[in-house]
Amino acid sequence: MIVVMKADTLLDSPELAKVIQLAESYPGITTQVHRIEGATRSVVEVYLLGRTGVVPTEPFEEFTAVERVVRVTEKFRSIGRHDSGLEAVGFDYNGVYFSQDNLHVFAGVCAVDERHNLEDTFKALREAGLVTSRAGAYKPRTSPYDFQGKGAECLPWVFELAGKYGIRVIAMEVTHERHVDEILAALHASGNATGVMLQIGTRNAQNFELLKVVGQQTELPVLFKRGMGITLEESLNACEYVASGGNRRIIFALRGMKTNLGDPHRNFVDFAQVPVVKRLTRLPVCIDPSHSVGSRAKSPEGLLDIFNVTAQGVIAGANMVLADFHPRPEEALCDGPQALLLDELPRFLEDVQIVRKAYEERVQRIALPD
Ligand code: PEP
Ligand code: MN
Repeated sequence: MIVVMKADTLLDSPELAKVIQLAESYPGITTQVHRIEGATRSVVEVYLLGRTGVVPTEPFEEFTAVERVVRVTEKFRSIGRHDSGLEAVGFDYNGVYFSQDNLHVFAGVCAVDERHNLEDTFKALREAGLVTSRAGAYKPRTSPYDFQGKGAECLPWVFELAGKYGIRVIAMEVTHERHVDEILAALHASGNATGVMLQIGTRNAQNFELLKVVGQQTELPVLFKRGMGITLEESLNACEYVASGGNRRIIFALRGMKTNLGDPHRNFVDFAQVPVVKRLTRLPVCIDPSHSVGSRAKSPEGLLDIFNVTAQGVIAGANMVLADFHPRPEEALCDGPQALLLDELPRFLEDVQIVRKAYEERVQRIALPD
């Protein structure tokens, strides 16, 4: 059960204390208090944990400082909207605001390799006005003989370069809890030259111990990628592990499903589910067109499949695009064949803008009233 306080309620207010006191007076009930940043306001919510089925809603509704009480019906309690009873959660990280109402493009290398390649990439991003990127230092590879990522050793110069080119957030995958500590240590040593969004890859979507670790720290936000071979509901439940640990700064990513029916693409593109995730959860939704398509195949009109599926996700309201770029794909140690070229970045961003505008127009002119 979630008690949503009125918008002006402060965390140290006596009204909030009374709600908590009442909640904890029921046997076995504990509470967690969260401040939720919405698109237009921030609200305080009290989560009642335990057997809440026997706790009545009415005594809470009688408090004047309470806006509403929502009974949590689905399994994903913290990230779920619960039949639209709860609004979406936005959050600010290192000066960048994420929500279900806006859109950011994270362009960058799949895996960090040579310093000059990363520098060229960040330089191109700055020229294009982007402050969000991707750069994998820890790579989960299908074969143990493939490049495993540069690891902690590259972090100091990755963060230094990011700071130099004004990059504010880098999506970086972690595959072990040790990586979180290594990233935090290197970030702090760099004087927080940039910010990191911890990426949980599709292969670790149900690595519950790792999910708990990234959920129990609240310094860095989390980009959770759906599992490639499990249902959406299973992925949402797994994502709930992050939120239940206390970290509410989460983005849910679609990246395609592993099925031979997806051929000729690397994965079966699942971006039709963008609006589904937006209505089921309070989280901003990301699409990864690069790992979905997996190649630079193009249509007879000359549009790359990666551009086309990006457009599909954006026209459906995606809030983030995670895309592989590389200055010299032939030198890339991971996923070179699907990388876009740096001189394609302005074209890619223009396409995203065209489609985002069309999405906004659809919402204005086509959407049904409540
Ligand atoms: C990645 O983004 O580098 C990656 C490995 O993606 P996924 O986990 O979706 O395969
Ligand atoms: Mn990759």
